[in-house]
Amino acid sequence: MIVDNLQCTANDEGMTSLSPLLKQATPVVVDHAHGSWIHGTDGRDYLDFTTGIGVTSTGHCHPKVVEAARDQVGKVIHAQYTTVMHRPLLELTEKLGEVLPAGLDSVFYANSGSEAVEAAIRLARMATGRPNIIVFQGGFHGRTAAASSLTTAGTKFSAGWSPLMSGVHLAPFPYAYRYGWSVEQAVDFALTELDYLLATRTAPDDTAAMLIEPALGDGGYLPTPPAFLEGLRERADAHGIVLIVDEVQAGVGRTGRFWGHQWSSITPDILITAKGIASGFPISAIAASESLMGKGWPGSQGGTYGGNAVAAAAGVATLGVIEEENLVQNALIRGEQLQAGLQQLQEKFGPTERGGIGDVRGLGLMQGIEFSTSDGAPATEIATAVQQATTGHGLLSLTCGPRGNVVRLIPALVVSAEEIDLGLERFGAAV
Ligand code: PLP
Repeated sequence: MIVDNLQCTANDEGMTSLSPLLKQATPVVVDHAHGSWIHGTDGRDYLDFTTGIGVTSTGHCHPKVVEAARDQVGKVIHAQYTTVMHRPLLELTEKLGEVLPAGLDSVFYANSGSEAVEAAIRLARMATGRPNIIVFQGGFHGRTAAASSLTTAGTKFSAGWSPLMSGVHLAPFPYAYRYGWSVEQAVDFALTELDYLLATRTAPDDTAAMLIEPALGDGGYLPTPPAFLEGLRERADAHGIVLIVDEVQAGVGRTGRFWGHQWSSITPDILITAKGIASGFPISAIAASESLMGKGWPGSQGGTYGGNAVAAAAGVATLGVIEEENLVQNALIRGEQLQAGLQQLQEKFGPTERGGIGDVRGLGLMQGIEFSTSDGAPATEIATAVQQATTGHGLLSLTCGPRGNVVRLIPALVVSAEEIDLGLERFGAAV
């Protein structure tokens, strides 16, 4: 089989081709990967600031994660958790207990972020007996039918396969840069609109949950202002609404705090985690108080592969590495270095009539660069061209945002100071 380009020759008789949807990927075919680096079948080395969309938290193939997974494969690969429990899941639960906020002492597992989002929504509806869910403009919560009904990070995430789940109400997100407001003004506006929504469209008695990311991910790498999260917490408490924080992309050290919501003073009722938790093995979880979690019934959640043993063992190793190598602190410091370097580039390549760097923002190793024209319009073509050019310069990056005009950089939590400098040099060359 020839695997050095996106056409795979499956056998001598016929050509098997990847779906056209997959050919949108960069032309890089990974041969092997370590730490912050992807080595292509083209013989080139790429500095990976995409980490499989924020997944390979401890870097590619961290030796301790590899060893844990290898060891587990020889013991038990799969044992369905509603039939028999297995040791890695118990160990992962114990490890998560060390980092979960006080009060969120009960954990349930699935495979992906979307499934965990759905599990959280089901739980909130079962616990409250109420139908409606409030989501915030620009939120991304996944691609399954229910998760894409909750997603407003761009029309492309639901166009063509509606109608979706009903009972979803959309409230504004405090997007200060877009409207030229201060953060306080944006928070004020968004909370006033939320109160109006609760007074007119979905009464508190009909509202099961509010679902928010600690920093918008696919919606444009916008940190959620702490005051906004605190405003949501007040309203959730006042009305018995379940506050769900989707930490799928922002959690597990990514923002320089273990959980993204820890930049604020709130504790959510349900926390959703996935991606970085197992360095690339598919596993996700929701955490809540035992009393809230008990409102579901066995079999109302999960699926055949949920909480897979090998993925759980990789999760235990991942959390161990994050602790031993002080990676949350590394994310904070390297994030500051990255942001400072990007701000220097912003000074050099600010918006022109055609477009330039209008805004640099983010928390820790979750940094977004928004491209705008001098009159503030989204400069999507420039952002796309820059993102594509980074590959040629040996740096992998991604775009995001409802208009696709934000380039996002998501290095591994193990990234070094030298790698950040090199990434900035390559990003600058692409701009
Ligand atoms: N929630 C957030 C915040 C995400 O960023 C994503 C994926 O990017 C999801 C949910 C969905 O996760 P998955 O793609 O694993 O289903």
